[in-house]
Amino acid sequence: MATNELDWANLSFGYVPTDYNVRSTFRDGKWSPIEETDSTTIDLHIAATALHYGQEIFEGLKAFRGKDGKIRIFRLEENARRIAESARGLLMAPVTEELFKEMVIRAVKLNERFVPPYGSGASLYIRPVEIGLSAQVGVAPAKEYAFIVFVTPVGPYFKEGFKPTNICIMREYDRVAPKGTGRWKVGGNYAASLQAGMKAHELGYSAVLYLDPKEKKYLDECGPANFFAIKDGKYITPASDSILPSITNKSLMTLARDMGMEVEQRHILLEELADVTEAAACGTAAVASPVAEIDDLDTGHKYVILPDRKPGPVVTALYDRLRAIQLGEYPDEHGWNTVL
Ligand SMILES: *Cc1c(COP(=O)(O)O)cnc(C)c1O
Repeated sequence: MATNELDWANLSFGYVPTDYNVRSTFRDGKWSPIEETDSTTIDLHIAATALHYGQEIFEGLKAFRGKDGKIRIFRLEENARRIAESARGLLMAPVTEELFKEMVIRAVKLNERFVPPYGSGASLYIRPVEIGLSAQVGVAPAKEYAFIVFVTPVGPYFKEGFKPTNICIMREYDRVAPKGTGRWKVGGNYAASLQAGMKAHELGYSAVLYLDPKEKKYLDECGPANFFAIKDGKYITPASDSILPSITNKSLMTLARDMGMEVEQRHILLEELADVTEAAACGTAAVASPVAEIDDLDTGHKYVILPDRKPGPVVTALYDRLRAIQLGEYPDEHGWNTVL
């Protein structure tokens, strides 16, 4: 596809074909040399553990074309560490940090023409994925694994501007179990959240705010994103064994401290929502998506966070600062960008 035919600012979060993807196979205890390919399919054994027992983990990160024309990949090392954690969680072969970095950089460079121009609001989404390959009908971890990195350009998350949305609480669904796989980036967690997400969308909400799966007292994740709020001028975000440690959340916590705010990562009681002045869902896709209202569908209680439905000053400032760092408009004081 010729990239001059792409309408960057209106791309969806779908899949635009790019030129190459890169792959490595774990066999006999080691990762193979990196293979570059233009094939978008894989040849998979029908008894592969990825298909039957859910040995599948992934990552999501982005590359941006900066103000200076250079390409920046945001927090590459953090994603490398996290996928290795996910691999250990599912008894898969961990990809080394070096291999992860090399493959991500190679995938971006090979598809450089798909990195959207500065100012378009679009970015190059990077999707590393690892799957269990070995044929095995008995329940056991595979011996062989494939690690693949592909990229695809995605449009701006906020196509109609930085607009707050409503989210909801529904106690009939859990995304993950209390000591389960929630802390790892596992495809199965997404399968487990599809019903609740679909129901929320049908009711006009952008996401489900899950409560902790054990006691249903504390705030947990917000759909496939972390949740944070501003209370008494402090940045508060849930601490829990069932939450995926979001790299965006971690970055926003650092920026909040830089801006002089106190940060608390702790159990947050549902009732505390009555006293928050701002709230947002955060993750790579949106950075921060402001929340206007949280409706508890079981009790009928509505927590109105933004009565005028305008994004609050703190969430806006954090969002602007993080975006500016990603685009090379603001100094990268914490060394988060890998500049190609
Ligand atoms: C990927 C993901 C996030 C966001 O993590 P980032 O590193 O900020 O993109 C949050 N929650 C879940 C369940 C996720 O899978």
